[in-house]
Amino acid sequence: MEQEYAELTCTACGRTVEHELRHVGRLLATTTCTACGHVVEVAPRSMVPAYLHDLEHRVTSKPQRMVRRARRDPARFVRELPGALLRQPAKLTAELWALVRGR
Ligand SMILES: [Zn+2]
Repeated sequence: MEQEYAELTCTACGRTVEHELRHVGRLLATTTCTACGHVVEVAPRSMVPAYLHDLEHRVTSKPQRMVRRARRDPARFVRELPGALLRQPAKLTAELWALVRGR
């Protein structure tokens, strides 16, 4: 996973330093102060509705992408379809778990 940083004011040590940002999907999950290590969780449970909204966008944009792929190479599309459908829910479930557990 790619690491992102942002300059924030720490609520524990009061210093304005780089904070390490951790994302679940495309949403911010935690910030970690690089000076004192204080971790702030961006209320995982309250993020769920936003996450589901984000997910809805990803899922609803998928049929169009699948249709495009099917037109380009129908034989390959049919061959790969079951695998693609099975992989996706597992990935989404893992993201949801990370949100609910907060880590
Ligand atoms: Zn700090």
